[in-house]
Amino acid sequence: MNWISNFVRPKIRALVQKTEVPDNLWQKCDACGAMIFHRELEASHRVCPHCSHHMRIGALERLKLLFDDGEFNRIELPEVPADPLKFRDRRRYSERLKEAQSKTGEKDAIVVAHGTLGGKPLVAAVFNFAFMGGSMGVAVGEALIAAARLAVLQESALLVVPSSGGARMQEGILSLMQMPRSVIAVELVKEAGLPYIVLLTDPTTGGVSASFAMLGDIAIAEPGAVIGFAGARVIEETIRETLPEGFQRSEYLLEHGMIDMVVQRRELPGLLGRILNLLGDKSPAAEVVPLPAADAPATDAPAADVPAPDVPTGQAPTSKQERAEQSPEKAAE
Ligand SMILES: [Zn+2]
Repeated sequence: MNWISNFVRPKIRALVQKTEVPDNLWQKCDACGAMIFHRELEASHRVCPHCSHHMRIGALERLKLLFDDGEFNRIELPEVPADPLKFRDRRRYSERLKEAQSKTGEKDAIVVAHGTLGGKPLVAAVFNFAFMGGSMGVAVGEALIAAARLAVLQESALLVVPSSGGARMQEGILSLMQMPRSVIAVELVKEAGLPYIVLLTDPTTGGVSASFAMLGDIAIAEPGAVIGFAGARVIEETIRETLPEGFQRSEYLLEHGMIDMVVQRRELPGLLGRILNLLGDKSPAAEVVPLPAADAPATDAPAADVPAPDVPTGQAPTSKQERAEQSPEKAAE
């Protein structure tokens, strides 16, 4: 009886009870090898708590992290012909597409959504690396154009978060054509005088890095992300030289002036909110003060102009108050 109550019964109970715990309770960090409990990993947005290694995250998780209160509206993406070249390698492209669609629950490798970030309107296009390596085919190109048009329509900033191996080879020349098309999409936003921000994540390579991904008004990268055109091994074999340590990593690119900053994942919402507020605020920083009369001697100007310095200082607290009003909301997130 002991055997039944101690072994069989718990087994049956475990089978009957539906546990909400996923199969992979622990995940090994690729960088330091530490085993991390899945809840801890979720809470840290998939950043290793031991070595701060930034693991890849899904598009929806990324959108939830970025937008205010994790709320956003996805937009329907344009329909595109599937498998226009009837491409086949070891398997049919249409089969690979279907498999990726059922695995990720997405139509293609990109998600476009709009909402607010730091109280400012934002359109975000986020790549999903889990979908065929985030590769850029016609669907991704169309989605980027749709995102740019939406940003122009809503007069909001456009944020693109690439995580991609490059162009999708199964769509041949059509995928390469998405490079100039995505650049034109970015131009739409820039011509409208709206901010275009790129958040480079691991990895941003190939045709993606050679088009819209490197054109951000502000280029931000996550720590340790691989960013480059050709892979390091290919370059090494071609030039027959050993590449420096950290080659093609975010920090290396920052050091060499290719990007503006490297930012920890948890700090991204706050930082992007600040940037959007700085770039989106078109009102003058302080009240416009009339210049002193032309006949007044120039040397007296600062002394005679006593109220002038007061105006900006009087103005400053209001903006500080505004900031103070906004920051608790951010902290609450
Ligand atoms: Zn680690």
